[in-house]
Amino acid sequence: MEQNTFAIQSILRGELPEDELLICLLDTFTDSEAAILRDAAQKKAQETFGNRVYIRGLIEISNYCKNDCYYCGIRRSNKNAVRYRLSKEQILSCCKSGYALGFRTFVLQGGEDGYYTDELMCSVVREIRENYPDCAITLSLGERSRESYKKLYEAGADRYLLRHETADPEHYKKLHPPEMSYENRIKSLYELKEIGFQTGAGFMVGSPGQTAAHLARDLRFLCELQPQMCGIGPFIPHRDTPFGDKAAGTLRTTLFLLSVIRLLLPKVLLPATTALGTIDPKGRELGILHGANVVMPNLSPSEHRADYSLYDNKICTGDEAAECIRCLSLRMRSIGYQIVTDRGDYQA
Ligand code: SAH
Repeated sequence: MEQNTFAIQSILRGELPEDELLICLLDTFTDSEAAILRDAAQKKAQETFGNRVYIRGLIEISNYCKNDCYYCGIRRSNKNAVRYRLSKEQILSCCKSGYALGFRTFVLQGGEDGYYTDELMCSVVREIRENYPDCAITLSLGERSRESYKKLYEAGADRYLLRHETADPEHYKKLHPPEMSYENRIKSLYELKEIGFQTGAGFMVGSPGQTAAHLARDLRFLCELQPQMCGIGPFIPHRDTPFGDKAAGTLRTTLFLLSVIRLLLPKVLLPATTALGTIDPKGRELGILHGANVVMPNLSPSEHRADYSLYDNKICTGDEAAECIRCLSLRMRSIGYQIVTDRGDYQA
């Protein structure tokens, strides 16, 4: 198709095609068109990162959440969720074992849990900063106030992940209850960037109600925000949520979008996510081959792994951290890549 060729040429130049062309491409791309973008994205990632894949140690600090996102298994209304939160000591002990395994980035992620006041969170961050001066600290704790982001940054956090989820305000309302605000989510992302965090945006692929026009908006938003990190993965239903019977996002579209994002944002830190590994046994390997350059093995205490259940059938919930990293090393080696012990900061 002539139209798609134009769109692909523009993406190969690192430019976003005009909306009509982009939406058409997202709606109708063929396998051979996807292969052109995959090859270019793989090459582009190798120009910056070689065959090196960065690892991030993910510590899921709490599954208590005050929010009620329709897609998420740890939403407050899910009465079946078995709730837990980690103490400062438990978080530090995860970092200790992670450091020994070679992790130089710790990602502290959780639901929006009021237990983690600025005071507590800053003291956790300060202590990790003191104990591991050579490590990056990433937070993924949802929306907080600007002052709170600033305090956390000053305490020593380097990065903050806050997926925008969808860049279309109407679609945002279909995924979230009325008390949640698209505007606040977007405002937070700009605040985080301004404060100095390496900032991560991102979205789910195939979330209920999502169209090609929404995805085009997501891509446009990413080009405008210019985040240092971008997390995308397929939506996967969780049985105890309002979206429990919706279809999951596809491997094909997720891989296509990874390639497009790599070409539009050449230096972006782009994970092959656990959700991608959940919908396909080779999902993470395929993600890397489509332009991703990060994997995020789980460092959470094994007794709580299964309870941080955002979606059904999440992989690696039974493994020890050491096992996860061994398995991922082998997976990366099988496709000619290698996991590295490196902070893996964004290089402008
Ligand atoms: N509370 C934090 C962390 C959220 S969990 C925050 O608000 O940012 C991290 C990500 O998991 C979310 O941003 C969302 O994009 C993703 N997620 C949640 N439920 C999901 C589901 N059912 N399928 C796939 N991804 C999901």
